[in-house]
Amino acid sequence: MQGQSVDARGPGLLILRSLDDAIALRRELMNTPRVAIVGAGFIGLEVAASCRTRGLHVTVIEWLPVPLSPVLGSAFCEMVAAMHRDHGVDLRTGVAVTDVFGESRVAGVALSDGSRIDADVVVVGIGVTPNTEWLEGSGLTLDNGIVCNGSGEAAPQVYAAGDVARVANRWHGDSPRIEHWTNAVEQAVHAAENALAGPAADTSFSSVPYFWSDQYDRKIQFIGRARPHDEIVIVDGSLADRRLTALYRRGDRVVACLAVNQPRALIKYRKLVAGRALWEAALSGTAAS
Ligand SMILES: Cc1cc2nc3c(=O)[nH]c(=O)nc-3n(C[C@H](O)[C@H](O)[C@H](O)COP(=O)(O)OP(=O)(O)OC[C@H]3O[C@@H](n4cnc5c(N)ncnc54)[C@H](O)[C@@H]3O)c2cc1C
Repeated sequence: MQGQSVDARGPGLLILRSLDDAIALRRELMNTPRVAIVGAGFIGLEVAASCRTRGLHVTVIEWLPVPLSPVLGSAFCEMVAAMHRDHGVDLRTGVAVTDVFGESRVAGVALSDGSRIDADVVVVGIGVTPNTEWLEGSGLTLDNGIVCNGSGEAAPQVYAAGDVARVANRWHGDSPRIEHWTNAVEQAVHAAENALAGPAADTSFSSVPYFWSDQYDRKIQFIGRARPHDEIVIVDGSLADRRLTALYRRGDRVVACLAVNQPRALIKYRKLVAGRALWEAALSGTAAS
């Protein structure tokens, strides 16, 4: 098994994408004391939380210095990292997995800093590649997914939706590929309505990304899209309590909201983010919601 790609399955080497993967992972974890998780994205961290809750020894390896920082902004990511460390996760950041070792089954991973981590199971959570190979040569535009107009059309009367699609999105101002459940549902509904509407089709898709993540006793919810230079203001709660609501500002607009164990806040701010409300009005509570 020496030299096995970290993006492959094998005895003790697992990926979590489907129900079968989840069942296989649960089976493996029944008799496993030590788990190494490659990638501290949401899937990796949710697996880490579940494994620690089962009392397993967990090591998470992440090459970013701070996990999740491109998604949430670094102050909150430090909070998430501290939460995992407080729960006993050995979180190694700023280091990459270079190899998976073992004979007939996984025995651990080698890291770019020269260290090795022994593990009975290795779970890989390092993202996905859109499955578009079968469309090569079809005439559709493929570029990190299927590129679609605002109707969800990749070509006249050919629609795409979900993780694989890059639908022109008015709220974003571009055509992002979004891997969230609500996005898949909204794009599918939009595409189906347009397919039925014919020339009366609504050619303008607008959707605000929303996701949640349950880790230990925390529910992390996020709506909108953060960028590295957004100003972030905590409007309720605190990092110390790991219970808070934060708004993200770009220019004079609210562009995102993070809520940790404050689900009502997300309901309150969702419309403001969707409407890119004026920052001052949102903070003072006078913006229409
Ligand atoms: C472990 C995990 C946890 C997640 N947690 C969350 C979460 O908490 N919140 C959230 O918002 N999102 C979450 N997601 C993401 C969410 O599941 C996806 O965004 C959503 O499932 C996308 O739906 P989809 O229909 O586009 O793709 P999928 O659900 O991947 O469905 C696509 C289907 O098409 C099949 N397929 C692929 N190629 C072909 C082909 N050529 N011919 C026929 N069939 C094909 C695939 O086998 C698959 O069954 C999670 C994802 C994973 C893997």
